[in-house]
Amino acid sequence: MKLQSRDICDADPTALTIGQALERIKSTLPRVRDSETIGCDEALGRISSCEVYSSMSVPSFRASAMDGYAVRVADCDGSLKVAGKSMAGHPGIDRLEKRTCQRIMTGARVPDDADAVIQQENVEPGEDSITVRVRPVVGLNIREPGSDSRDGALLIGFGCRLGPAELALLAAHGIDRVSVYRRLTIAVFSTGDELRNAGSRLETGQIYDANRPLLQAILDNNAISMIDLGISKDSTIELRKRLDAAHDADMIISSGGVSVGDADHVRQVLERIGKVSVWKIAVKPGRPLTFGLSHSRQAYFGLPGNPVSAAITSLFFVKPAIRYMLGSDSPLFPPLQVRLVDTLNKHPGRIEYQRAILQCNQDAQWQVSTTGLQDSHVLTSLHRANCLIELDTNSTGANPGDIVRVYPFTHFSDPLI
Ligand code: AMP
Ligand code: MG
Repeated sequence: MKLQSRDICDADPTALTIGQALERIKSTLPRVRDSETIGCDEALGRISSCEVYSSMSVPSFRASAMDGYAVRVADCDGSLKVAGKSMAGHPGIDRLEKRTCQRIMTGARVPDDADAVIQQENVEPGEDSITVRVRPVVGLNIREPGSDSRDGALLIGFGCRLGPAELALLAAHGIDRVSVYRRLTIAVFSTGDELRNAGSRLETGQIYDANRPLLQAILDNNAISMIDLGISKDSTIELRKRLDAAHDADMIISSGGVSVGDADHVRQVLERIGKVSVWKIAVKPGRPLTFGLSHSRQAYFGLPGNPVSAAITSLFFVKPAIRYMLGSDSPLFPPLQVRLVDTLNKHPGRIEYQRAILQCNQDAQWQVSTTGLQDSHVLTSLHRANCLIELDTNSTGANPGDIVRVYPFTHFSDPLI
């Protein structure tokens, strides 16, 4: 009898679900408590360690939202004499006599006596007067003081990632220094007797180390300082040496050597110098992901050796762990629901993430297609992919036209704005 793909079950009763693994990881992780005050010009990507309150209203004065004329609404039933000018940074006179108006530019202070700004397109300009075409309502085109934020308002909470919007907000309130959690120090190394650095010459049976550049790039962030510990041989002594060299790190990440092969020693070493709290998760790729504490204080991630497995486990486990340690605990964005173009194969037993391409068709509808071969050594398909399709534990695949759950890679990146 021919074995059908749906007959092959990939389940391992000892494996944790992703949720269970993340719970265990979070309950073990030490959180960074120390903070430092730094200039806002170097704070991009850092995590706030205190609340920031506004000490001024923004805008701080009544400002015009248009280029035009500041007027008294009650006077707007004919022509008005233009008396003076208010430019951004050069406020004009404060008084506005009856039946006069003031030329005003966007961002300039509105005279106290004016109660509207008429857009210049809505007046008939004369020699030194204007005729109002449409009578404005009170408050038109005036930005009231505090309409963005009021004096004393909370601007930024604890554990907030400082992105472009946050840095602009702080600057707009005159704030040039901010208190942030100290950087998280992460030591990264690869394991494998077969590994060489790119740029060197390979002997038969050797391969280039792709995981260190991969992980360093995925985790690259201003809130992190990275220690590169190179490549370790597959020996317990060599692995111990790396861990000793990483004594200053808050987190240690290795790749390879976590499976059940004869050269897989990472778990054994971690057991000896600390504690393994997660091994085997019902996820594909990434089942042998290993997590624990080294020397009772350092978070240790032993990622699988295949590059795609290392990439996917670092997105779903390492990045959330880093955010948690730094006090920023925002959950992953939920997946999109997108129509599938082709057929996906899968064995039941593990939740699976397949590399895929999300794009818009000619009718402006989003659709998703597979990158093809899903073996976890295939880096070219990681390069072609821009998203991951999530298939349920018990799923046996999906067909053209099915709606599937999709995580665009941008879901894992730090906020752009
Ligand atoms: P391991 O988990 O150590 O058995 O490795 C699984 C597979 O991933 C093997 O084919 C390794 O050669 C490969 N691999 C391990 N580490 C790396 C690395 N840093 N770069 C590229 N491939 C790797
Ligand atoms: Mg290995």
